[in-house]
Amino acid sequence: MKNKYDCIIVGGGIAGITAAIYLKNANKDVLLIEKGTMGGILNKISNIKNYPGFTEISGPDLAFNLYEQAKANEIEILLDTVIDIKEEKEGCKVILKDKEFETKYLILATGKEARKLGLDNEDELIGHGVSYCALCDGNFYKDKDVCVLGAGDSALLESLYLTKICKSVTILNKYPKFKGQAKMLKDLLKHDNVKILYNSLTTSLKEENGKLVGITYEQDGEEHELATSAVFVYIGSTPNILSGLDLDLDGKYLKVDENKKTNLDCIYAVGDVISKDLYQLVGAADDGMIAATEIIKRLNQE
Ligand SMILES: Cc1cc2nc3c(=O)[nH]c(=O)nc-3n(C[C@H](O)[C@H](O)[C@H](O)COP(=O)(O)OP(=O)(O)OC[C@H]3O[C@@H](n4cnc5c(N)ncnc54)[C@H](O)[C@@H]3O)c2cc1C
Repeated sequence: MKNKYDCIIVGGGIAGITAAIYLKNANKDVLLIEKGTMGGILNKISNIKNYPGFTEISGPDLAFNLYEQAKANEIEILLDTVIDIKEEKEGCKVILKDKEFETKYLILATGKEARKLGLDNEDELIGHGVSYCALCDGNFYKDKDVCVLGAGDSALLESLYLTKICKSVTILNKYPKFKGQAKMLKDLLKHDNVKILYNSLTTSLKEENGKLVGITYEQDGEEHELATSAVFVYIGSTPNILSGLDLDLDGKYLKVDENKKTNLDCIYAVGDVISKDLYQLVGAADDGMIAATEIIKRLNQE
């Protein structure tokens, strides 16, 4: 492993892997650093039906294909966590717990994390009834009554997955309508073990012997209780922004130009960590391709 690279990519989701493939194919020295599992959020998605080339594919299968493609392209991968980044005179320094690298260019492809409910005992109940990943934890609640909290595509998609495992799935949507795709809602309503509660905001988690046993929710100004073995939370996400850099934000997300460059000259950002209208796989891959192509152009001009 070298100390200095043409480009270091932080994050091994679809955006980061796509960027790495383009850079490597242009013969550039590239290092991809991933703190968890290659494929990123894909490992938590039950089913994908809109990714070109696959009528239907599970998230983990697509993640595995991407990892295999990265290996086939001989991309250097380091499984570790980037804890800080420092801008240098030329390029920047990438800091890990017990290593440092220099790079001419950096691509941030760090994605986003599920947003929590912010309720009192939420953290203690993670793994004991509170989950942010139906695909990872759904099987622990086989034949049980569960709830899904959320109003978007992720809540609908993962509810559909849970209908096949759990006895019943109650979706609590704090709005009067869903924001997700109408087709997904239609598919979901074909299952008779699904119930939807609109205008319903979860206000507390009821625990007994260290396990979730129910929730309290408010609907039209009234408080109700509901017994449940699990809540699967899909209420949005927060981007993973690395500290140590003075990067411009648009809301909570990184602001980039049309070439995916941040306000700092050697730092690009791609995928779910940047501000954009739609967070989808093809868009994340496209971001990775655009940033890599621009960096290749700049490296070739040196
Ligand atoms: C439930 C769900 C269902 C979805 N369904 C679809 C769908 O059907 N179709 C579709 O097109 N899109 C779908 N999406 C959206 C799509 O999955 C994302 O837009 C896309 O995968 C984002 O890719 P990414 O590479 O930007 O981020 P991620 O896949 O999140 O990758 C980011 C990676 O960065 C790593 N990382 C973060 N910080 C650090 C650090 N400090 N050091 C090292 N590594 C770090 C993380 O571990 C992670 O692996 C869905 C999303 C969800 C949540």
